[in-house]
Amino acid sequence: MYGEIEYCGDCVVCDEPVDLSEMGACKSCGSAFHWGQCGEWHSNEHTCSNCMPEDEEE
Ligand SMILES: [Zn+2]
Ligand SMILES: [Zn+2]
Repeated sequence: MYGEIEYCGDCVVCDEPVDLSEMGACKSCGSAFHWGQCGEWHSNEHTCSNCMPEDEEE
């Protein structure tokens, strides 16, 4: 399972290596993160959990 990954950098949220297939690129801080785990869409932009406003839910 953990053979080859397309390394895209370390996740800004959890600090683990990010594979290309599961990569998101945060528009706020410009860092890579694990899509769906450490960030997702927010206001039509990729947003990591670090930059995700927690109090805003619309
Ligand atoms: Zn992560
Ligand atoms: Zn971010």
